[in-house]
Amino acid sequence: MKNIQSVCVFCGSSNKGNQNHHQEAALLGKILAENSIKLVYGGAKVGLMNIVAETVMQHKGHVTGIIPQHLVKMEGQNTNISDLIIVETMHIRKQMMFEKSDAIIVLPGGFGTLDEVFEVLTWKQLDLHDKPIIFVNSHGYWTPFITLIDHLIKENYAHSSHRDLVTFINTAQDIVTALSKEPEPRQPVNVKWV
Ligand code: AMP
Repeated sequence: MKNIQSVCVFCGSSNKGNQNHHQEAALLGKILAENSIKLVYGGAKVGLMNIVAETVMQHKGHVTGIIPQHLVKMEGQNTNISDLIIVETMHIRKQMMFEKSDAIIVLPGGFGTLDEVFEVLTWKQLDLHDKPIIFVNSHGYWTPFITLIDHLIKENYAHSSHRDLVTFINTAQDIVTALSKEPEPRQPVNVKWV
């Protein structure tokens, strides 16, 4: 994919994860800023989400945060970013994050991260979009998920071709190369999220 202007990053809101993941989040933020790729993320001031956003800002990049009003109390809103958009619902947040980005990047995270990525993954499975979905398998965090995908395929609940809906890289260091290897979009995305 040649023209990547912005990426959406899904990742954990926990501050208690492995320090290696914190470093990976910072590395991703630095690389995005250095390559003039805008960050779109959940707008919160917690966890890996905050580390990516803060690092992009430190390196003079561009960050758009999108957060539902009810989460502001729980996760805090990051006012130290280029644009902060407060929305009414989680669904509007996910829709906007998707629409404003050319590709999806996934760092380590929990249930919320899984919810976000499974939505874009299943929409891709239904051919509603073809944006790249790239997992940063930092220190093997997503390896059990790779095993699960193989299991779903082996048990005939997912088609073997659907293995290619997602890409795994071992470190954020490889993100620009990975994005450049992704195919050009086949279709403009023009579907309603809900
Ligand atoms: P987590 O991976 O659980 O730390 O969550 C990461 C982000 O996903 C946080 O900003 C959460 O607000 C968000 N999130 C949590 N639950 C959901 C959900 N059901 N749908 C969409 N996003 C969610």
